[in-house]
Amino acid sequence: MRLIYPKALWRGDKNKAQIYLTFDDGPIPDITPQVLSILQKCDVKATFFCIGDNVRKYPGLFKQLLEQGHCVGNHTFHHKNGLKSDVSAYLTEVQQCAEYVKSKLFRPPYGKMKRSQYREIKRQNFQIVMWDVLAMDYDQRLTANQCKANVLNNCRNGSVIVFHDSVKASKNVLPILEEIIDELKKKYHFATLEEFEPDRAIM
Ligand SMILES: [Zn+2]
Repeated sequence: MRLIYPKALWRGDKNKAQIYLTFDDGPIPDITPQVLSILQKCDVKATFFCIGDNVRKYPGLFKQLLEQGHCVGNHTFHHKNGLKSDVSAYLTEVQQCAEYVKSKLFRPPYGKMKRSQYREIKRQNFQIVMWDVLAMDYDQRLTANQCKANVLNNCRNGSVIVFHDSVKASKNVLPILEEIIDELKKKYHFATLEEFEPDRAIM
């Protein structure tokens, strides 16, 4: 995977005790506000890769994300699987999302896209963000504690950790998020991916 998308970001500085929490697929009523209140209570900031259509439907929630100092990124308009769409349809999805989410950070849904899509998105000056730690919170066969172990056992300097603020993942995220953050706080500083955003000065 790293060879397929050579310029993507998988992990931050391995010499810094700093990590990046990310939440994909929101914003979603009931779920995203609960994630936000945990983050607020723990006093940490995260990066939310939003589905454009959800931002269209729930602008108030999106505004809340921004007002609370979190960073946002583009996750296409309809959570499109790049491998199942042609280049122009995929780029339209990214563009439609960009009308709602003003960010040059992009994470492909399912972590997959074609080389041609990757090249075009790079050409549009997006920073593509992958990850090195998956909570696997969307996996209904896993318990919340297994998801917690996935994160705590694999987190290291610079880790980009993926959670989901989705209905499906909520049973695995909401019960453990605060415990995970408390544990990781002993070792790491939490940052957002804003520092990796291209052209940040002119956005
Ligand atoms: Zn997703």
